[in-house]
Amino acid sequence: MPFILQVALDTPLHRLFDYRLPDGFAAIQPGSLVEVPFGRTQQVGVALGQTATSTVGLDKLRDVIRVLSDRPALSPDTLRLAQFCAEYYHYPLGAILLATLPPRLRNATPFVAESPWLVLTEAGREATPPTRAKAQRALLGALRETPQLRETVRAQKQSRHAAALVEAGWAAWSRLPPPMTHTPQTAAAPAATPEQQAALDHLLPALPQFGVHLIHGVTGSGKTELYLRLIDAVLARGKQALVLIPEIALTPQLEQHFRRRFPRRRFATLHSGLGEKDRAENWLAAPDCDVLLGTRLSVFAPLPRLGLIVVDEEHDASFKQQDSLRYSARDVAIARGKQGNVPVVLGSATPSLESYAQALNGRYRLIELKQRAISQARLPDIELVDLKHIPLDNGLTRPALTAQAETLTRGEQSLVFLNRRGYAPALYCPSCAWVMPCPHCSARLVLHRTSHRLKCHHCGIEARIPHECPSCGNPDLKPLGQGTQRLEETLGAFLPAPRIRRIDRDTMRPRAWAELGEAVHGGEVDILVGTQMLAKGHDFPNMTLALILDTDGALYSPDFRATERLFAQLMQVAGRAGRADKPGRVLIQTAFPDHPLFRYLQRHDYPGYARELLAERKQLDLPPFTRQVLLRAEATTMEAALAFLHRAAQLAPDDANVSVFGATPAPMARVANLERAQLLIQSTQRLALQAFVRNWRPQLDTIKPRIARWSLDVDPLVF
Ligand code: ADP
Ligand code: ZN
Ligand code: ZN
Repeated sequence: MPFILQVALDTPLHRLFDYRLPDGFAAIQPGSLVEVPFGRTQQVGVALGQTATSTVGLDKLRDVIRVLSDRPALSPDTLRLAQFCAEYYHYPLGAILLATLPPRLRNATPFVAESPWLVLTEAGREATPPTRAKAQRALLGALRETPQLRETVRAQKQSRHAAALVEAGWAAWSRLPPPMTHTPQTAAAPAATPEQQAALDHLLPALPQFGVHLIHGVTGSGKTELYLRLIDAVLARGKQALVLIPEIALTPQLEQHFRRRFPRRRFATLHSGLGEKDRAENWLAAPDCDVLLGTRLSVFAPLPRLGLIVVDEEHDASFKQQDSLRYSARDVAIARGKQGNVPVVLGSATPSLESYAQALNGRYRLIELKQRAISQARLPDIELVDLKHIPLDNGLTRPALTAQAETLTRGEQSLVFLNRRGYAPALYCPSCAWVMPCPHCSARLVLHRTSHRLKCHHCGIEARIPHECPSCGNPDLKPLGQGTQRLEETLGAFLPAPRIRRIDRDTMRPRAWAELGEAVHGGEVDILVGTQMLAKGHDFPNMTLALILDTDGALYSPDFRATERLFAQLMQVAGRAGRADKPGRVLIQTAFPDHPLFRYLQRHDYPGYARELLAERKQLDLPPFTRQVLLRAEATTMEAALAFLHRAAQLAPDDANVSVFGATPAPMARVANLERAQLLIQSTQRLALQAFVRNWRPQLDTIKPRIARWSLDVDPLVF
């Protein structure tokens, strides 16, 4: 009887592919990676079920080429989670399964992993091998001296003795080095604050089972400390913790904090900033670690003893992937928790309205930390500088400069928050108002002074700065607006020799972050200038002033989430000021000081603003009170993109519970020479919407003429 293997492949097709298992193949474990012929090439796929029949004629079936035995099979947990994603995001299972793997393990090139470490077990500390087993005794002795051996046990003879020790339970193989037994800087846990204790009293008993717990804690309230306590409890039971964080840049900092706290535990990190080799190694090591710290992609990592998932800064948009599989790592984390009966802890100073609404309606447990953990640390005073009455000089007002100078005089640090990147957003001609556009996108080119280039932040093209206006010939082109680079000059000119450092994605590599952190802590920096990257998770005790410029665009944006995001950003930036024993001050320059957002911000009242925004969303039938799916289309002409969407709307199943809106050009209508349009589908009932899309999606494949690309975005964040 021929055995047929069903294989999931990375294709746009929503189906599995059947292959014949030639003689000599033992039963293949589901989740194994296999190489199979596909068209004229070979592909790596994931083996799923085996059957004896196929809809394809048996004579047409092709043979499996080989099993990739140099890497482990995907675990049943991963297969189940990918299945959930396929159904929820209406995305092909094979594409999801392969996307969960680090890139290096997705191709058939053999992967030679570092040999594992031989580590001493608890039992090995006390054991005494028989006297005649000399080599074993020697190896055990060596392990006790330096409990990490790798290179030496590679030698043939040694490895036999190593195997004997493993057999006896005195040593074990591990893909992670054992932790240092004596770390120079070990940190003990501080006594919990009363609020932290109350939170622990709620959380610790709830830990063994699935449940979603939302920790809403003001910045500096000790959320991280709370995670550490929970992780400690979970590790004590021999389980693993997965900690998801929004930014690569924050991993080294947080990792160090965690390592100091748990010097005897094994850590692994996963993020896209790692080289391909390291990423593959760390992924392979994940099953052996105690704590995995990583960005959104680590939500799929193999963790057989998973006992807790923490999503820090759960509101952060970087948890949502904005291309191919448009998943939200926060939501997938909750699905994983549910499938594996593992508790999920979401934490934020400004939770997403989606999560907050779930906490208010009782589906998630809400835990509040209202006080800063260090008792002297008060929340900063937030003052508004009314731009209708106070003039701007190169982007700054007199009160802002005065505050800046006073802070410098006191020997304290400040930060200047600006929501844009580059020297100035655009180059413009004062005589004819011409602005240099990107030739491929509906965007302006951004002026980068250090490189003397114009860059498109959407498609990445670069251009030289023209000598004169291409439209009227005026040689005196000027930077328009105020980017971070220009502000730096302005500050430098006004203030006595301050030491200014700029943070944004143009200057920052992950390693540079750690160095910057040290420079700030060491007092080598007076002023930090930067974009939203500034807002994230830094704790600088001497930083007492935050200047916030240039946020008014978000107050009246057509994006319904713009105010939610701005509030979160401003709360976070404000949270950077006055973290330790010195009072902090926040100055916001705005032409709209009466906007309700500022009223709540000045009172540090996230719950108040959240309730107001939620009431508004409810009235307007917007998320989280409705669920949305966006059909995105890209074509060489806008006409074609819209025609595709019109046809898609005609093919939509009839369902009174689901609204199909009109097709419109996307807000960024042109990117890299493709025109983009979108069609919004919405329902108050999640299951109705899901069923609707399930029936609708196969219809979309039939639409002619074909366009360059289309995709479904479930729970879209960006329109
Ligand atoms: P969050 O993550 O909520 O912003 P952190 O956990 O980083 O807050 O804590 C803010 C500061 O308070 C840190 O310097 C931290 O070491 C300190 N801290 C947290 N909990 C305690 C505690 N129970 N006792 C003393 N200091 C604490
Ligand atoms: Zn462009
Ligand atoms: Zn001109």
